[in-house]
Amino acid sequence: MTSNNKVPRVPSRSWNDLEGIGLAIRQRVAVESLKEPSSIDLASLFEADLKWLLGYEYQIKHLPSDVEAMTLCKSKQIILSHETYDSLGDESSSGYGRARFTVAHEICHIAVHAKYLRESTSLRGESSGIRLNRSFLKPYEDPEIQANAFAARFLMPTFQVEMLLREGATINEIAEVFGVSYEAACYRVNSMKKK
Ligand SMILES: [Zn+2]
Repeated sequence: MTSNNKVPRVPSRSWNDLEGIGLAIRQRVAVESLKEPSSIDLASLFEADLKWLLGYEYQIKHLPSDVEAMTLCKSKQIILSHETYDSLGDESSSGYGRARFTVAHEICHIAVHAKYLRESTSLRGESSGIRLNRSFLKPYEDPEIQANAFAARFLMPTFQVEMLLREGATINEIAEVFGVSYEAACYRVNSMKKK
């Protein structure tokens, strides 16, 4: 959500468009990760590539307990909470998958949305997809819903999920391969089956 609880409208995007933007980023920073299904190194992307790739700096700060991350468009910064940052680098942490999803969500805001948002706008991290004060927005023009759709596809590219499913992988195995939560892998697989 934004600082004033109103979510700005952004140009509509198909989920395929968003996946294409994610794949282009992976090709630039982690091309190896496209050769076979694997967990993209988001800690490294965040710390080593964010600045040259997208012009953003990152900071780790205390944030309100319900905020995992925040994108500040005016000062070109991503702020992560200490909890999110710590989990991002710790595969054994119970918050590992969620932290990765949060960071991928914020990457969408800076790669896709920042140029459309007013200078003062900040986007607060909210990877759960709860909709607040934005019933006037269609899902395709809602930056929070777009960012969740992007994050799922960035972390779990369609062709790689399809490959694993053909090989008979379980949801648990898919979650493990991509470094996402069981819930995120389950949602991704089910949404692909609905197509
Ligand atoms: Zn967001």
